[in-house]
Amino acid sequence: MSLDEFGLIDRIRSRTGARADIALGIGDDAALLLPAPGQQLVVTADTLNAGVHFPHETPAQDIGWKALAVNLSDLAAMGAQPAWCTLSLSLPESSASWVEGFAEGFFALADRHGMALVGGDTTRGPLAISITAMGQVPVGQALRRDGARPGDDVWVTGVPGEAGLALALWQQRQLAVAGPVAEPAREQLRLRLARPTPRLEAGLALRGLASAAIDVSDGLLADLGHVCARSGVAAEVMESSLPASQHASELQLGAAFEGLRAGAGDDYELCFTAPASARAQVAQSMASVAVRATRIGYIRTGSGVRLLDGEGKAVSRERSGFNHFSIGGQ
Ligand code: ADP
Ligand code: MG
Repeated sequence: MSLDEFGLIDRIRSRTGARADIALGIGDDAALLLPAPGQQLVVTADTLNAGVHFPHETPAQDIGWKALAVNLSDLAAMGAQPAWCTLSLSLPESSASWVEGFAEGFFALADRHGMALVGGDTTRGPLAISITAMGQVPVGQALRRDGARPGDDVWVTGVPGEAGLALALWQQRQLAVAGPVAEPAREQLRLRLARPTPRLEAGLALRGLASAAIDVSDGLLADLGHVCARSGVAAEVMESSLPASQHASELQLGAAFEGLRAGAGDDYELCFTAPASARAQVAQSMASVAVRATRIGYIRTGSGVRLLDGEGKAVSRERSGFNHFSIGGQ
């Protein structure tokens, strides 16, 4: 069934959750929102293009989830509480079933975090999804990239590299992204790529604890490099501290995974720094939100990021996988 633009908008509008801080939602020329007093508005935008940011055969449900997840991940990295978003859809055809599928994945994640859709735009064109996500953080409490100090610990959540491994398997035709796939470890890897978990609870728990934070979208070392550049510091990461992947081991892909941990993107984990004096508190706060967090290195004076082997020698950039890694290249 094909629908006109207003039919598509109605389908989306009917799915969104309500919030008391929306004076006027979808249906007018613009939305009217009521940010809470004492809070800063946190605003971020990200676009996903078919064939560049996800394979063309990706199910609509997974596209809906991931388009929102990458934006929520930016809010998480700021320590923000999600609130509202807008959705701009460019669709090659007006298919009701595609929009229903997209909405299913999108609102599964939006509802989980109390995020309401308050507006957007719908046009005809190559498949692309552009979302603006808004959240709130108490004045002065946002997690920024510019607060890392020499002596701080470097931490990472989850297991960076698993999404990259899933992507590599898909590129080698060893993983069907249209899944689900039968083999449990392979399915878990597919989900790391198709349905990343934005670390919002971790971001909130790190307010007042982390000195700097970023989400890992382009690769661990590359993103840590952004923190260093903004903070005017250097970082050392111990290769032996990087989390191992149980799923990769189960599939006998441990060696391939090792080459992806530091450089592959698309994981949407958080990389953050915190004073060594807060080590126990950080571990406790991550445990309280049931998020695995691993201490992987230190902030130093100077500039740049170095990956060190077991003997404290710098690992070559080629071997560290310190390059951009994405589906179509960007
Ligand atoms: P306008 O032409 O004034 O920009 P539209 O006809 O494009 O308005 O949209 C009508 C209403 O539907 C607006 O409130 C707009 O924010 C909303 N809307 C349009 N597309 C979407 C979408 N993909 N998701 C959510 N809301 C949308
Ligand atoms: Mg208008």
